[in-house]
Amino acid sequence: MDRNDLTRRQFIAAASAGSLAAVASGTIPAYGNITKKAGKLAILGGKPVRKNKSWPRWPYWDENVVNSIVKTTKSRIWCRIQSKSGTVPTFEKKFAELIGTKYCVATGSGTQALHTCVEALGIDAGDEVITSPYTDPGTIASILSARVLPVLADLDRESYQLDPDDVERRITENTKAIMPVHMMGQPCNMDRIMAIAKKHNLKVIEDAAQAHLAEYKGKKLGTIGDLGCFSFQSSKTIACGEGGAVIGNDEELMDKCYTVHNHGTSRRGRTEVAGPKYRMNEFEAAVLLGQWGGIEERFARRNENAAHLTSRLKDVPGIFPQKLYEGTASGSFYIYAMTYRKEYFNNADRNKFLKALSAEGVSLGAYIGQGLHKEPWVEHILSSKVYKKMYSKKRLREYREQNRCPNCDKVCREMVMVWASGPLLGTKKDMDDIADAILKVYENRDKLSSI
Ligand SMILES: *Cc1c(COP(=O)(O)O)cnc(C)c1O
Repeated sequence: MDRNDLTRRQFIAAASAGSLAAVASGTIPAYGNITKKAGKLAILGGKPVRKNKSWPRWPYWDENVVNSIVKTTKSRIWCRIQSKSGTVPTFEKKFAELIGTKYCVATGSGTQALHTCVEALGIDAGDEVITSPYTDPGTIASILSARVLPVLADLDRESYQLDPDDVERRITENTKAIMPVHMMGQPCNMDRIMAIAKKHNLKVIEDAAQAHLAEYKGKKLGTIGDLGCFSFQSSKTIACGEGGAVIGNDEELMDKCYTVHNHGTSRRGRTEVAGPKYRMNEFEAAVLLGQWGGIEERFARRNENAAHLTSRLKDVPGIFPQKLYEGTASGSFYIYAMTYRKEYFNNADRNKFLKALSAEGVSLGAYIGQGLHKEPWVEHILSSKVYKKMYSKKRLREYREQNRCPNCDKVCREMVMVWASGPLLGTKKDMDDIADAILKVYENRDKLSSI
C-alpha cells in the first residue's frame, strides 16, 4: 500500500470504526457497521439483490421529441442557412441562455466543437495543447485535426481529472492552450488551471462534453475558460444522436468559431479562412428542442440520486466515490464513478468484483481500458511527415520519453462506474439496489477468489 492509499476519508472511516492503531500501522481496518445479513452471492447460487427490474433507458424521448422532428420534416427547413428562425439558431439562443453565456455555435459533434475552438484561437501546426489522457478520443482528435501536438498530463488519482501540477510541468515555449476535460461531468480544479493559464499566458478550452449544467464556484462548466465545448452524442446527458456546441462570451472569437465551422465562410458571406464544414443540421436541433422542458428536471434528479448513492457508498471500505474539488456545486452525472481498491476485497481482481455485482442485477463497468497516451496514434504522429517537419527532432524524442501517466494507468485499473445518463433518473430504491449489491459483495469478499 503506498502513501496515497490512505486518504483523509479512509482515515476518518477507520477512526470512526475505532481502528486508529490499524491506520497507524498501515493495515486495513475492520469495518464495524456492516451487518452479516446479505446472504449468499447470486453468482454462487444465492438470491440476487435485483431481479427483472429495468433501469430508465437512454437516450430520452417522448412525444414532444417526435412532434418536433415531424415539424422540422414538414417545414422543409432542414439546414440552418435556410432560416434565421430554424431549429439550429433557436437552439443556439436557448442553450446559451441555459448555460448563462452570450453566444453559442452549434456543431455536428463535440469533437467538431473542440476542433473549431483550436482553429478559431489560431493554434496551429508547431504549437502544443496540454490535455488529459483519460478522455474520449475526440478530445485528442480535435487537436490532431489541426496538426497540433497534444501533450498529455497525468491525473489526480482520486478525482480522475488533470493534475494541475503536472500540467504546469509540461508547459513548453510552444504551449498555446490547456484543454481541461471535466470527466464524468464533474469539475476539474479550475481555480488552479486558470491560474496556471494566466501565469503562462495560455488559452483555456474547456472540454465540457460530459458536463452539461454542472457548476463550479457559481459558474457553469464551459463558461470559465476562453471557450467551452459540449457534446450531444447519444450517450451524453443531453442527446440528439450526434451533435455539439461551442459557447463563449467574446463576440469576436465566437464569430470566428462560426466562420471556422462554416467552411471558413463568415456570417457576412465572405470565405475568409481555412475551415471544415461542421454545421449542426436542423433535425439534430429539433431533437434537442423537443426535450427542452425536462432538461433541468433530469439534471436535478441525477444530482439527488447521486447524493443518495454517495451517502450510501461513502462508508463502504474499498469503495471511494470520485473525489470532488472544493467549489463543486453540482455535476452532470454522465457517469457515476468510484475507485475500487482490491486490497479491501481480499485482493479480488476488479473483474471478479464486476462479475459478482452483475449477477446481483447491478452492472457496473470499467470505462476506459487504457489511457490515450498508450494508444497507437502516438507512434503514428511521431513518424508522420507533418509532425516531423513542424517539431524538432529533440522535441519529438522528449515527447516520446515523457509520454507517461502512471496515475492514469492506476485509474484505468481501479475505476468502476455506472453509465448514469439513464440509470440515475431512477428511484431512490434503484440507488439502494446499487449500494446494497456493492455491500453484499463486500461482505462476501472472501468468496470472490472462488468465482
Ligand atoms: C463525448 C466526448 C467527446 C466527443 O464528443 P463527440 O460528440 O462524441 O464528438 C469529447 N470529450 C469528452 C470528454 C467526451 O465525453
